Amino acid sequence: ARCVGVLALQGAFREHVAAVSSLGVAAREVRQLKDMDGIDAMIIPGGESTTMGKLLNEWHMLEPLRERIQQGMPVYGSCAGLILLCRTIENSDQPRLGVLDATVRRNAFGRQVDSFETYLSIPEVGPDPIPAVFIRAPVIISVGPEVKVLADVKGQAVAVRQNNILATSFHPELTPDTRLHSYFLSMCGK
Ligand code: GLN
Repeated sequence: ARCVGVLALQGAFREHVAAVSSLGVAAREVRQLKDMDGIDAMIIPGGESTTMGKLLNEWHMLEPLRERIQQGMPVYGSCAGLILLCRTIENSDQPRLGVLDATVRRNAFGRQVDSFETYLSIPEVGPDPIPAVFIRAPVIISVGPEVKVLADVKGQAVAVRQNNILATSFHPELTPDTRLHSYFLSMCGK
């Protein structure tokens, strides 16, 4: 059975479940280690990365999830999910998966404009710009050689891919547009 797990410890997981389901693929909320049995891809939602990392640690899911990703399981992280995937988090030693060879700056857009919506051109995903919601969003400030930058805002990377790992600073799941999720599912061979 083909099934996408959505990490459901905290944050905006329901919207990811709805987006995946609307594309005709089974989605399962992952709350504990045994929920990862039988999933063949994983989404890590937005929320609060320090809380999610702490809970992953406490529930002994951090290492098993890291191993699955290193073995090639497709993973998509949005916002806090992106932060958890990154190897280096500027000025923070918070728990993380650390599988994405990139350095992230949290809350990078500052207070005044910490939430905004825009249209982003992501040629890899499709020809037309997609709506992107940024909420206290991070940016990626440097990437390793394996990482491809898919989109940027004023020169700052906000969507990246490293082989089986996809990450965005923004929340496509908070819009009705499912092209980003379709793209992720195409990475899963679906
Ligand atoms: N600022 C949050 C963090 O650092 C991320 C915000 C979000 O996921 N919308 O974890």
